[in-house]
Amino acid sequence: MMMMGLVKWVNLFIMFHLFAATKPIMASSDSSKFLNLAKEPRVFDWMVEIRRKIHENPELGYEEFKTSELVRTELDKLGIPYKYPVAITGVVAFIGTKKPPFVAVRADMDALPMQELVEWEHKSKVNGKMHACGHDAHVAMLLGAAKILKEHEKDIQGTVVLVFQPAEEGGGGAKEILNAGALDNVSAIFGLHVAPKLPIGTVASRSGSFFAGSGFFEAVISGKGGHAAIPQHSIDPILAASNVIVSLQHIISREADPLDSQVVTVAKFQGGGAFNVIPDSVTIGGTFRAFSTESFMQLRQRIEQVITKQASVQRCNATVSFLDNKTFFPPTVNHAELHDYFQSVAGSVLGDDKVTDIQPLMGSEDFSFYQQVIPGYFFLLGMENPAVEHLESPHSPHFKVNEDALPYGAALHASLAANYLVKIHQDSPVVVKEKHHDEL
Ligand SMILES: [Zn+2]
Ligand SMILES: [Zn+2]
Repeated sequence: MMMMGLVKWVNLFIMFHLFAATKPIMASSDSSKFLNLAKEPRVFDWMVEIRRKIHENPELGYEEFKTSELVRTELDKLGIPYKYPVAITGVVAFIGTKKPPFVAVRADMDALPMQELVEWEHKSKVNGKMHACGHDAHVAMLLGAAKILKEHEKDIQGTVVLVFQPAEEGGGGAKEILNAGALDNVSAIFGLHVAPKLPIGTVASRSGSFFAGSGFFEAVISGKGGHAAIPQHSIDPILAASNVIVSLQHIISREADPLDSQVVTVAKFQGGGAFNVIPDSVTIGGTFRAFSTESFMQLRQRIEQVITKQASVQRCNATVSFLDNKTFFPPTVNHAELHDYFQSVAGSVLGDDKVTDIQPLMGSEDFSFYQQVIPGYFFLLGMENPAVEHLESPHSPHFKVNEDALPYGAALHASLAANYLVKIHQDSPVVVKEKHHDEL
């Protein structure tokens, strides 16, 4: 009985590895075909035009009404059905059999509340708003992928779900897309971000923790105000807050594992307005980051303890809030199996030498919300052409997109999605059949 079981297990193991070793059948031929298609002027120029239109009319999180309308107009022209509205301005479109398996590809649509300082023909027409994170390019690339995939719809072995998501910049739009149930039967999700410091035609990513989890905190430290020359009649919240800030730095330097990177930064300190008055209270605030949910929750707990207890040493009271719903992003953790898959597909689209591993980054991405419930993979898409110019970092008022990167993003989206459906059929044909009745 035990031997039988073992033999069966070994067979299964061999079967699994046979499948795992199989290159996706569309990969080598169709992937380079997708890139060539995306570079054709009718696709490339169209993406550039869309990106520039969105760039001229930047909209903040959950206000992407014109952007969303533009997306729907283009989808209508392409004959691609979609759900709208999803999470206020979001659009979720479908290409393929409209049956399982489902694989999703995501683009974020929102701009930032900042003034563009780049002088060019298609500069932002809205004062105080700018696409300084490249989400205009992300939308154009996902539409590019839609166009390419639609032309190959008969070859798609399932359904590609295109997610045009609102409010990535601190609004948690990904969470709202999930709450709307728009991705309930999706087997995997892919997303990308343009990267100004990576060479054009390359991609970079890693398996496991990629971006940090991020949270914000704010604390009010209350004492008793009074004359600055008679401190014995007051309880000084400025001194208490100063001690709190120093103690907060000991969490990272003395309590956290040095090999588990974390950050606590107090970036806000408000209190007092006169040279000779001790104020009643001080407000401090900041951000904390970690690469695992455990470290993140530990940080959160210790920040609260240190603030309240250290304030009490100076006879002050403190209240701490973490503004959770709006500002907490989990760590972005790439699925290990999807990492191998991504390297294989990206290698066949771009060439194996154009696919690199990268160190984790302390920034954060709301793509992480998807990864909490769906196997997900996020990667960076290079834009830099040093022969032309060096590009500024995202969120700079001088940020620029190298539009030559658009075809690479579109082709990668299309290849990752189409091949993944092929891979699902290869890996588990029975499961695919059984799930026949699932609808999105
Ligand atoms: Zn951003
Ligand atoms: Zn961004």
